[in-house]
Amino acid sequence: MKVDVLVVGLGPAGATTLNKITKLAGNDLSILGVDKRERPGFPVQCGEFMPSPEEMAILTPDVPDAKNFFTFDSKYISSRTNRISFHSPQGKIIQTPFEGYTIHRGIWNEDLLLTAEQLGAKIWRSSRVIGMENNKILISQKDGSPESVQARVIVGADGARSRIARYYGLAEKRNIEHFVYTKQHIITDIQSLKYDSTDIQMFFGSQYAPGAYAWVIPKDKNTANVGVGLRTPMSKREITVSQALENFVSKHPYVSEITEQTSIESTIGGLVPVGLPLKKTVDEQKRVILVGDSACQVVSSVGGGIPTSMVAGSIAAETIYNYTVKKGSLTEYEAKWKAQMMAMFNRAYKLRRLFDKISSGSDDQVQWYLNRLRSSDVCAVVHCQVPLKVTLGFPFIKYVNFILKKWQI
Ligand SMILES: Cc1cc2nc3c(=O)[nH]c(=O)nc-3n(C[C@H](O)[C@H](O)[C@H](O)COP(=O)(O)OP(=O)(O)OC[C@H]3O[C@@H](n4cnc5c(N)ncnc54)[C@H](O)[C@@H]3O)c2cc1C
Repeated sequence: MKVDVLVVGLGPAGATTLNKITKLAGNDLSILGVDKRERPGFPVQCGEFMPSPEEMAILTPDVPDAKNFFTFDSKYISSRTNRISFHSPQGKIIQTPFEGYTIHRGIWNEDLLLTAEQLGAKIWRSSRVIGMENNKILISQKDGSPESVQARVIVGADGARSRIARYYGLAEKRNIEHFVYTKQHIITDIQSLKYDSTDIQMFFGSQYAPGAYAWVIPKDKNTANVGVGLRTPMSKREITVSQALENFVSKHPYVSEITEQTSIESTIGGLVPVGLPLKKTVDEQKRVILVGDSACQVVSSVGGGIPTSMVAGSIAAETIYNYTVKKGSLTEYEAKWKAQMMAMFNRAYKLRRLFDKISSGSDDQVQWYLNRLRSSDVCAVVHCQVPLKVTLGFPFIKYVNFILKKWQI
């Protein structure tokens, strides 16, 4: 089978690409999207948190018309939040104002695909890419029958373990420290008066989230996404991600209280790439483009990848349209997403590395550092800015760590 555009993987990145290219090209191009799931976007493997359009305009000032671009129809908004609280290992809380919302990510994802289908795109659900042969993509379809697809342009949007990146030689060998393992419950029937559905909460410490953080992200007044992330090299207690989630829900003083006598609606796990984006995300000769997690386009300090997938998917669609219809170049994709997002990715990565240094010792050491942070510093961090005192102190962290260790802090 031959098509103009094949999109592999229909999560936020692939669905955005498919939706936009179909809107641009209408019936001028044959467009096929495939996903191994029957309902791409479900189950929702995500905290579903999005900074508000105003915050996104600050985070990514180079995205054209950012406020409009990141505005979701109100039907996709599950709850609005206005604050982020950082919880230190010993329970100190530092808060900063930050506008955001939790979205109905699965429904939004599904609607992008349904619209694309109505406009003429073909979607194969429950269809898995299983190989590549003579530049054709081999797909095992819903009924198990194989089909090989040849495309003028291939979009790899198949997530953190992207096969397309591997098949086309774009994947980079990356150390395990650049991946966060996560597990999350959707908790319903929350009744505790201590639960504040306008507050995003992030928790640090080796018991729940070695090398990353745990979270409570409100979905509404009685429902929250409650999850943990961990990076194995930092997990000195050698706990699994399931044990970390169990600890978080049953032992953390605040979380155990708000989750008492609640129900678990569902549990999911997932892998978040937290390195820098891949060096090469497009190959003009092989006519392949990577978007979203497959290209590691994630804000590595917080593991956020929905807004960046939307930007990359949108640029990918425009570039492919120009390439197929107006004879443009595919390499424009990489130049454009870098111009719009690379500065933020670099700053986030610097913050992540800084956090790695701070959290390389004991929880008391993490606590010592967090005690020195003010609300204004946390505000800078959540906006992917490195506070000045941190920039100045960065070269000395290893000496401070040495002294803290000597003092047994
Ligand atoms: C627990 C968790 C919480 C998160 N919370 C947030 C958050 O609150 N806010 C935020 O911005 N980001 C969050 N993220 C990150 C965000 O979910 C990802 O960055 C985002 O989903 C990336 O979108 P994607 O389309 O690139 O990849 P994915 O969402 O992973 O989609 C990839 C798609 O490819 C399909 N696929 C894979 N392999 C194949 C194959 N061989 N054949 C066919 N189809 C295939 C999959 O079925 C899937 O539908 C979170 C991630 C996790 C794991």
